[in-house]
Amino acid sequence: MISIEEAIQAVKINSFEVSKEIKIPIDKIRNSILFRDIYSPINMPPFRQAAMDGYAVNSHDDLLYTLVGEVKAGDSHQPLLNKGEAVRIFTGAAVPDSANAVIMQEKVVARENEITIEAKLPIGLNIRLLGEQVKKGQLALKKGTKLTPAAIGYLGSLGINEVSVYKKPSIALISTGNELVETGQTLTYGKIYESNSLMLQNALINLGFDAVSIHKVEDNYLATYTKLQDVILKNDMVIISGGISVGDYDFVGKVLNELNVEEVFYKVNQKPGKPLYFGKKGDTLLFALPGNPAAALTCFYMYVYTALQKMSGFKEVTLPKVMAKSTSGFVKNGTRPQILKAIYKEGEVSILEGQSSAMLQTFSISNALVKMPEDLKQIDIKDIIEVILLPF
Ligand code: AMP
Ligand code: MG
Repeated sequence: MISIEEAIQAVKINSFEVSKEIKIPIDKIRNSILFRDIYSPINMPPFRQAAMDGYAVNSHDDLLYTLVGEVKAGDSHQPLLNKGEAVRIFTGAAVPDSANAVIMQEKVVARENEITIEAKLPIGLNIRLLGEQVKKGQLALKKGTKLTPAAIGYLGSLGINEVSVYKKPSIALISTGNELVETGQTLTYGKIYESNSLMLQNALINLGFDAVSIHKVEDNYLATYTKLQDVILKNDMVIISGGISVGDYDFVGKVLNELNVEEVFYKVNQKPGKPLYFGKKGDTLLFALPGNPAAALTCFYMYVYTALQKMSGFKEVTLPKVMAKSTSGFVKNGTRPQILKAIYKEGEVSILEGQSSAMLQTFSISNALVKMPEDLKQIDIKDIIEVILLPF
């Protein structure tokens, strides 16, 4: 059985960018990576801009200036200033070519037609230069840049309204199990509500993956075979929940084998999520997650997340980690490395009670995971430990 670290490494090595470019309107981009270098179509700012509310002056040696007009933000007229003349000006307004400094209004004594300033002004004071941020034709953002809100705002400020990004994988989510009933239906004896596809779909959408289709199959060989054959053809990634253990009615492993899916690994030395499967067929990656909800979600963030990030062109493909002081103790049962649900806050972490892989109530209030290696038997209060931050 491979270790957690080996499994993560295997996911990294076997996941590739979907490497198709897709053009997306700028207001529809969610957590994407830029596919091409972007050169600025304009100078930014597109004109010399006032950085303060105050007065634009054509400076001279005296401290007294004659007021000859006003320019407010958005105005397109350009008053001509002779030496010793000033115009009232406001932040964001175009500074007339004949002005060479802007003085903030707090530093001026203003009368009706003239102002007195405190001291001589340095040339260029409070003027944002034409193209100061980026010049027309200059590289604005490099291929591979993550399109954060700031990056989207920046591209928008250059007038760009469509952007080439890495195509996100199309994903099929399949839940298996005869016992599963959709929410909203009546629960009869022996059945439970299906929650993994809801949970995983939400996790995917929150990460900016919205090309997700949801499928359900019964614990039946033929139904599983037909469904998997179909979704593998149509998707870049297939995420299956349940049916991957060794029970008589777990058909996923057999079907994947029958469909000639290449197994990268099956079973990881970890708790929860030991029966995790990862494989590939052509360009399609397949994860079969254990059906127990907390195990499925743990495996999603530890492994599937990495594959998704790599497929979408991200350079950071694992979740961020920080060191934190433990505010709780935890004693490990057995030797298997454990991935524990925890709450991280401001440099401190508390490992929660109720770590069962079948239970989601603990996961519902956690925002972090703590990996407890094989040789670590217990965590004590005040120990400094590594914490994996979940992306919500
Ligand atoms: P399995 O991996 O199929 O053996 O399932 C392990 C446990 O997870 C069983 O108790 C299942 O009933 C439960 N389970 C499997 N799939 C789901 C699902 N989609 N939603 C909620 N619970 C599930
Ligand atoms: Mg099952």
